[in-house]
Amino acid sequence: MPEQLIRIDLIVEEHDLEVANGVLALAAPFGWEEESLPAGGSRLCVHAETLEWAERFLHTLAVTLPRVRVEKSVVPKTDWAVAWRDFFTPVECGRHFLVLAPWMDAPGPLDRIIIRIEPKTAFGTGHHPTTALCLAALSELLDQHTIAPAMRFLDVGTGSGILAIAAAKLGLTGLAVDIDSLAVDNALENAAVNHTADRIEIRQGSTEYITERFDLILANILAQPLCDMAPDLLALLKPGGCLILSGLLTREAHAVESAYIALGLPPARHASDGEWTRLVWA
Ligand code: SAH
Repeated sequence: MPEQLIRIDLIVEEHDLEVANGVLALAAPFGWEEESLPAGGSRLCVHAETLEWAERFLHTLAVTLPRVRVEKSVVPKTDWAVAWRDFFTPVECGRHFLVLAPWMDAPGPLDRIIIRIEPKTAFGTGHHPTTALCLAALSELLDQHTIAPAMRFLDVGTGSGILAIAAAKLGLTGLAVDIDSLAVDNALENAAVNHTADRIEIRQGSTEYITERFDLILANILAQPLCDMAPDLLALLKPGGCLILSGLLTREAHAVESAYIALGLPPARHASDGEWTRLVWA
């Protein structure tokens, strides 16, 4: 673990704040601090452990929030990394899942499936609505017997591995991919912590080089990549398979749905939590 952290401050005008918080929710899901500035607007502060991550984050900011002022500094690690472990609270997702950190005791008799996630820089602890909506969708599909053990899944943008681990715990086996090497490391670690490593193949990359067709595809990414990936994802879905898409702001949901309807899918089932929407075809 590094002794120093890279601190990235965003100085955000009031009218950019909603978008900035949306970008941070996806790009820095482990958390950030927000402080209102006396002259108006806010300072959003993110701590990064690696230069690689910081550079990718700065690139995301440059693309999504070009108007925002960004300041970068190096700060001692102090208690920050320890402190944010304390923020991790158990989170129930959907009817069937409970997400805990590895060091937490499971609560007494329990009718929920426990997923343990080591919170690192990869996205996916269950606290964010985009993840929770996917775990709720998996719960519903299980209750409807639409998904069943022995089926095969593909998790595109696996992040911490949380959705793949959930599917594996339901008895499915599959493939999880992520373009981010840090996410792949975190997903491998979490797959092992959850004793699901033998049910999930984890690879760095995206949908290229995949030839298998899957019973279930999960993709919690962002609206634009999901629109762009529509032909690829549908080519990888078995006829009649289930597709779960998340990471969309509610106002973007119809555009994403249309990209898939244009390729032959029927209308999707929508579910929302706050400003986030998930689409399910099953
Ligand atoms: N599945 C997790 C993480 C979602 S965050 C959850 O539901 O919580 C989105 C992840 O997608 C990030 O880890 C990001 O690196 C990855 N990603 C973004 N674009 C991608 C692409 N085109 N192909 C594969 N992974 C991608």
